[in-house]
Amino acid sequence: MIELRDLRKSYKTGDFVQKALDGVSVTFRDSEFVAILGPSGSGKTTLLNVVGGLDHADSGDLVINGVSTKDYGSKDWDTYRNHHVGFVFQSYNLIPHQTILSNVELALTLSGVGRAERRRRAKDALERVGLGEHIHKHPSQLSGGQMQRVAIARALVNDPDIVLADEPTGALDAETGIQVMDLLAEVARDRLVVMVTHNPDLARQYATRIVNIADGRITGDSDPIAPTELDATTLVHKERAAGIAATSRASMSFLTALSLSFSNLMAKKGRTILTAFAGSIGIMGIAAILALSNGVNNYIDKVQEDALSSSPLTITKSSFDVSSIMTQAAGYSAEGGESRGDESGASTEDRAGQAAGSDTIPESTIMSDILTDIKNNDLESFRTYLESGESDVKDHVTAITYNYGITPQVYASDTSDGVKQLNPSTLQGIMSNGMSSMMMAGASSSAGFQEMLDDQAILDAQYDVVKGTWPKKYDECVLVLSSSGGISDYTLYSLGVLDPEELSRMLNSAIKSEKVDVPDADVDFTYDDAMDLSFRVVNQADLYTRSEDGATWTDRSSDEDYMKNLVDQGLELHVVGVVRPKGTASATSLGEGIAYRHDLITHLMAEAADSEIVRAQLANPDVDVFTGKTFDELQDAQNAQLDMSSLFSVDESKIAQAFTIDQSALTADS
Ligand code: ADP
Ligand code: MG
Repeated sequence: MIELRDLRKSYKTGDFVQKALDGVSVTFRDSEFVAILGPSGSGKTTLLNVVGGLDHADSGDLVINGVSTKDYGSKDWDTYRNHHVGFVFQSYNLIPHQTILSNVELALTLSGVGRAERRRRAKDALERVGLGEHIHKHPSQLSGGQMQRVAIARALVNDPDIVLADEPTGALDAETGIQVMDLLAEVARDRLVVMVTHNPDLARQYATRIVNIADGRITGDSDPIAPTELDATTLVHKERAAGIAATSRASMSFLTALSLSFSNLMAKKGRTILTAFAGSIGIMGIAAILALSNGVNNYIDKVQEDALSSSPLTITKSSFDVSSIMTQAAGYSAEGGESRGDESGASTEDRAGQAAGSDTIPESTIMSDILTDIKNNDLESFRTYLESGESDVKDHVTAITYNYGITPQVYASDTSDGVKQLNPSTLQGIMSNGMSSMMMAGASSSAGFQEMLDDQAILDAQYDVVKGTWPKKYDECVLVLSSSGGISDYTLYSLGVLDPEELSRMLNSAIKSEKVDVPDADVDFTYDDAMDLSFRVVNQADLYTRSEDGATWTDRSSDEDYMKNLVDQGLELHVVGVVRPKGTASATSLGEGIAYRHDLITHLMAEAADSEIVRAQLANPDVDVFTGKTFDELQDAQNAQLDMSSLFSVDESKIAQAFTIDQSALTADS
């Protein structure tokens, strides 16, 4: 049940204030067909956008199934929009260069449904709206009514609880309008449909309830919720909350269940590949599916920019379609062989259908899905192309960054107590040994050392500088606080403010189930302390020195004296500022910890290119500087090791002997 409580929203243009919503209170049932009827400019679209989470009211509350959305974070809104609401617009918003099947499928790609299952569901939805014959056509090959039916199929394919339609027949003639209305009326049989219209005839003919609106106020309601009804539904919600199956929709559908487990996945903060990917899906879901034209573009742009900067579109040397892994992670097989626990509430038909009449165990094709889709990218040419000015990609993206896979080797400045490497962090390894991946995800929201986006405008939009300034030079960095403006002890350990070895010891005893001596948790870490932080960065090339033979090189990283000397002379990386995420940023590009500039990487690359070992290697590219052997020889040696057949050399004569049969013995017996 959706309750709107005294919603108010006004728009200011110059000195003029337009009240779009002026104290709207109304409650919608879980399943009914509501028509919002009112003249143009009365606030209908604003109301619908607020109900759909695309826009927020200035005051008042939207209560979804008994839960206020006042405390909703951006992730909650993403989840709500992507999984519980389907939108249908007057202008269809289909993607023109894709078939209608792909248009509908897209909605599911973004929810992490496997490929074959995606196709099946999309086809079903298109058949349901009477377009089964047309699935391979493009939108331009369809009539307006047909396009609107595609949009309805797309809204339904995720099986949302609520379908919101903004003047869905506004662009259609009377006859095709009727087809669309019939369809929406059918959709409303088992869910809430809220349709905005200024056509009273359509509203009267199809809707089960008409709510009139004028000047941002409700002026009439043909079927308001009675107080007794409210009590009854509140009870249902209470039961639901208590974990008792709800009575209204006895079994959660496959997709709703999927959505729920997927939103759990999304709710976990973290930078594991899955959650990072899920994050970008949440936002791509909104951006791509809506491709909005309805005045929320700016909002979408903002969310899109924030979210994509934390989970950017990344082009790698080779790419995989990991949606099948995600599907599996959410507890479902990629091909829809619904092989999961009962508590997720799959409808019994689903499972029975799977089990009956077949004695093969359903297989889910995760690996083949991934492997058939591997693509290799020629990044060098791609970069040349991007920078040639031939492409107009710069008009469509906020920032392009190049990642060279270089991890700065960062050490604690103070070596009096031994050399302590901070990046790459040794802590994560220990953590992942001892903890479940879920706990890991929590800890890894602390990023330790990270490169920041090379785009000051985005950083300014997402962060407030609490102390000092943003770094301006390659040897400067900032400390990034959590969104609440704090810093975790885990981060303090990984920055060496607290002794990382102490945490290692604690973790190791925890893993061995020994009693853990937790030190005094109170650390007074002040902003000034933060500004005093500095680290040493060592060029990886300097970890190697020429061996006595003069031809090969030796790794010195475990030679303590050598390392101490090297770290003491390393590049000093200073903290010059402390920043924290703005409350308004819906996503941020940096995790808690230290953020350094891209310059640092280019500086390290230039230094490396100039180092003796790299020059020696480049001068003689066929010979490995570490071993003095040619790469061909090394490859052969490796191949030889891998040659399994040598393990199984067989003496054939022995085998022949072992298996000879004494024919005479057989015959003699009979
Ligand atoms: P309807 O959908 O009923 O035609 P809207 O909800 O779109 O009405 O708009 C309600 C009122 O708010 C109108 O007067 C409209 O001009 C104003 N309005 C809507 N969106 C904006 C906006 N982004 N900026 C300024 N005024 C707006
Ligand atoms: Mg409107």
